[in-house]
Amino acid sequence: MSSDPRRAIPSTDRLLALSEVVEAGTRLGSPKIRRIISDVQAAARRGDLAPADVTPRVVAAVQTAQTTELSPALNATGVIIHTNLGRAPLAAAAREALAAAAGYVDLELDLADGKRAKRGTWAKTALLARAPNAEDALIVNNGAAALSLATTALSVGESRPEVVISRGELVEIGAGFRLPDLITSTGVQLTEVGTTNRTNLDDYRNAIGANTGALLKVHPSNYWIGGFNATVPTKALANLAAAHQVPLIVDVGSGLFEPDPVLPDEPTISQALADGADVVIASGDKLLGGPQAGLLLGKADVIAQLAKHPLARAFRADKFALAALEATLNAPSTPVHDALHADASELLERTQRIATAIDAEVVPHEGRVGGGGGVGVPIHGWALSLEEHFAEPLRTGNPAILPRVADGRCLVDLRCVPPADDQVIIQRLSEIVEVQR
Ligand SMILES: *Cc1c(COP(=O)(O)O)cnc(C)c1O
Repeated sequence: MSSDPRRAIPSTDRLLALSEVVEAGTRLGSPKIRRIISDVQAAARRGDLAPADVTPRVVAAVQTAQTTELSPALNATGVIIHTNLGRAPLAAAAREALAAAAGYVDLELDLADGKRAKRGTWAKTALLARAPNAEDALIVNNGAAALSLATTALSVGESRPEVVISRGELVEIGAGFRLPDLITSTGVQLTEVGTTNRTNLDDYRNAIGANTGALLKVHPSNYWIGGFNATVPTKALANLAAAHQVPLIVDVGSGLFEPDPVLPDEPTISQALADGADVVIASGDKLLGGPQAGLLLGKADVIAQLAKHPLARAFRADKFALAALEATLNAPSTPVHDALHADASELLERTQRIATAIDAEVVPHEGRVGGGGGVGVPIHGWALSLEEHFAEPLRTGNPAILPRVADGRCLVDLRCVPPADDQVIIQRLSEIVEVQR
């Protein structure tokens, strides 16, 4: 029947020929453009959209479509380093550095003389400026790579395959990945000493032998052992290692350079170096607040040994990580630092302003460091307390907002939300209230 409204749906060819669609195609590519068109046509065929609205809908959709399916999200969970949201959000300076690194850059070139130069010098300089007691540094892809490189190069690489570690430090870091499995996957043999709760200096001393390549101390970032327990301080371990001429590797995990009063139990890179570690390992995207990266800082000869191991090439950081890391290290602050130190009364004021706008309740809410750091440390703050059914529309809307769902409530914590986005939260919440009314 010619009266079938579906016959009025514009054809794919006609839609593809629209100037707005042609222009968007240079950004999005043909498969994505075709997918958008066929989705809109399908909606019209189902009767969800009038045929006359197909063309404007396609134009709007191609013009607002992102080049990646990765959706930016507002983190309203109160968990600062949220692994499922990509850990540390970058400082504005680091975002700018990423854009600058996108084209051709002098990554391994000295523009002054046109000769080849060392890769990532600027990032390394910025790193060493923050840890003046490190003689040298190396930047790799992530903390796990740094740990694998250090343990492998210093043991297997020196034909002394054993690495000594306390049984209290055999960590599973998440998603089923276990550091002992990671370390032994390259042929390193772990010599486990002590017990889960107590390890003393003699345990390490008795384990050191001709095949010992290194001693390893790992900060158990995501759990703690209380009660009847004992660990050996870095300084004592460093003295023991030096006496036996084996290097001491210390994995501090989260990448604090200096002590933070909010996290008194978090080890720092500077202290581990001051205590005599030969090489200290940390992540770039935890408390340091930068891009994913693995940092190795320590004695010049040890770093040189790591840098020439074949794994250093497999694990090397890319230009984006190096650029963003340098910018993060030089930035006056980071979003992670700001969220950790957010003023409680300011948070309360912001939360109350939104609560008033949408008629919701404000409750005390404890945030978390997250990302396997500052375990068990509550960070006192506030949240909007909404009915649980708010969570889904918040998550699936644009922009996505991730609240915390607990005890049958949808909790919106502003700690990790930039104040400039409060208005967006009010807007999205009002829309949801409106739809549900
Ligand atoms: C997080 C962590 C790692 C792994 O670092 P990634 O950067 O996530 O690869 C290794 N060791 C410790 C102690 C950690 O906390």
